[in-house]
Amino acid sequence: MTIFIDFDNTVVESNKRIIEMINDKYGLSKTEEDLKDYNFQSIYPISVKEKIDMFESDSFYDNLDFKPGFENFIKNYASDFEIVFVSNGTTKNNKKKKEWLKTMLPYQNWNFDFIGIGEDNSFLNKSRVDMSGAIQIDDCFDCLLTNASIKVLYKDFNNFKWQQPSKAEDYLMVNTWEEIGSILDFYKEYDCDTLTKK
Ligand SMILES: [Mg+2]
Repeated sequence: MTIFIDFDNTVVESNKRIIEMINDKYGLSKTEEDLKDYNFQSIYPISVKEKIDMFESDSFYDNLDFKPGFENFIKNYASDFEIVFVSNGTTKNNKKKKEWLKTMLPYQNWNFDFIGIGEDNSFLNKSRVDMSGAIQIDDCFDCLLTNASIKVLYKDFNNFKWQQPSKAEDYLMVNTWEEIGSILDFYKEYDCDTLTKK
């Protein structure tokens, strides 16, 4: 079974790192609690180009942390599931994400796929990926509007507006990677479409 996993703010603390970079640059002391929008205007009026430059910078990746519990999760589940990271970003940004994951997940025979979406900056939409029969994990509700069989909204105890349901859709809501592990334990034994025991 395949699991499609988002990168920014699902696997890693992207928002925290960008806020740190803005704080350093402009002498602020903002935190993720101050964040109200996707483009960090609630932190400081940076331009879209500045945001993209930060996401493409070495500094971003040099000081990026995993979300709590993710490393343990991947250690426990990588051999039972096919892992595909699927992430929106520029070509440079996605290339760096893939390299960072390879470096930071030091497993022998480590095998994962990485799908970078929106590299031409034209169409950021995960629904272009066929996720039928798979589980999808993302911190953004609208990114879950795909054909995945099971959709998991990972909130990490946040309540951002992009985590609110924008339409009727079946999904599971979790706050931790340990909870995601429990969900996968279930689907190791039960078919995710029919819910019959395998
Ligand atoms: Mg995300």
